[in-house]
Amino acid sequence: MWPCSFVPCLFVFLWSLPMKRSDTAFQRCINPACGAEFDCMQAIFKCPRCGELLDACYDWDKIEVPRRMNDFGKRWANRQHRLDFSGIWRFRELLSFCPDEYKVTIGEGQTILQLNDSVAKYADMKPGRLYLQYEGLNPSGSFKDNGMAAAFSHAMMTEAKSCACASTGNTSASVAIYAHSCGLKCTVFIGQGRIAFGKLSQAMDYGAQTIQILGDFDDCMRQVQDVCSRLGIYLLNSLNPFRLEGQKTIMYRIIEQLGWEVPDWIIVPGGNLGNSSAFGKAFAELKQLGLIKQIPRLAIINATGAGTLTDLVNSKNLLWNNGQVEQKIIDDYYADLTSRHFSPRTCASAIEISRPVNLKKCLRAIDVCNGVVRAVSDEEICDAKAVIGRYGLGCEPASAATVAGLKLLRTEGVIAPDERVACVLTGHLLKDPDVTVGYHKDKKGRFSNPPVEAPNDLEKIVELVKG
Ligand SMILES: [Zn+2]
Repeated sequence: MWPCSFVPCLFVFLWSLPMKRSDTAFQRCINPACGAEFDCMQAIFKCPRCGELLDACYDWDKIEVPRRMNDFGKRWANRQHRLDFSGIWRFRELLSFCPDEYKVTIGEGQTILQLNDSVAKYADMKPGRLYLQYEGLNPSGSFKDNGMAAAFSHAMMTEAKSCACASTGNTSASVAIYAHSCGLKCTVFIGQGRIAFGKLSQAMDYGAQTIQILGDFDDCMRQVQDVCSRLGIYLLNSLNPFRLEGQKTIMYRIIEQLGWEVPDWIIVPGGNLGNSSAFGKAFAELKQLGLIKQIPRLAIINATGAGTLTDLVNSKNLLWNNGQVEQKIIDDYYADLTSRHFSPRTCASAIEISRPVNLKKCLRAIDVCNGVVRAVSDEEICDAKAVIGRYGLGCEPASAATVAGLKLLRTEGVIAPDERVACVLTGHLLKDPDVTVGYHKDKKGRFSNPPVEAPNDLEKIVELVKG
């Protein structure tokens, strides 16, 4: 028997320590030679021992995961429940790092997987085989809300008081909207002149402090990490492993909308490589849990003006190699970029990144999903964007890299015309109106649709409308 006096002590210990702690999740360094593990209550974002990225990991034995994917679908009948309504938390057992009371949602993840035969025809696919996953339908207009719902839940769990991010635009908009909904002070760092106006307008309107650095995104990324570590600010860039947990759910929703079947291919734009990393992790876990039988293939599409991943994987043969990534290849490549004063350039500002933070996790995803990497030109991106706009719901330029990439992979014969393909359209058309207006108004492309000038005269206007 324990002495009676010990009981109150034990009670105090239990009360003060583990209430917020998840006993089902932990963080682990992705470097297998290190493998250091950390509690989820730590907001560290890089391995303190070796500097590599961290994963959110789970003790699956302690989590009651549904036995079949379609069990998650039952939650649609319970839309009054805030977590069942969320397109992220509907799948909460698959990202179980946080008690329910800290889970943040603003109604994200109500997105559509649209079968689109007209865009399929453009990309030389057979009817009934191409789907467009419209992540632009999230509250801030981009896929980032998937990650922010999860990362802000972690921020609340760890009692963060202020937050920050570096951004090409979509992240800042998403961070700002979640920050004000959580009552956190918010600072966003952007590169000078490298942000689409639609996105910048959101950050300002949602009340974020916006700091414009005289440099590009990579400069912003370096600065924000130093500022956050010096001031103890919660960092919301995609090296935050909890953001990627939220982004996994884009894949769950694609499977859901295909009647709980996996497609043959997922195509995603490649920028900071958070999405591709998250998708690979999602499929690896679903397979491990026996929830899917087959892992789809992954195609990651760069813009040619920001083709780091394409160069490293296709030209330099950089591989995941069971975690033994050849760092020298990366270091030499980046040193060359620096010596040439290289700054990435593409109209697809969301993927205008030359030093992707999640590079190694992405290499792992390519390994898991037997993935391929390609780069497409701005002209190909803008033409594909106009086709998506004409026949779909419209998207920002980076999103259209997926359809341009599909067209290229069809030409190469890598993707067959009757395979089932889901292109992830990451951001809303109105995120970057300048590129859209420029393409159409200046008659820059094959699908330009410029406005027609008319005299202020009824008969002449009627003639024009009749065509
Ligand atoms: Zn480590």
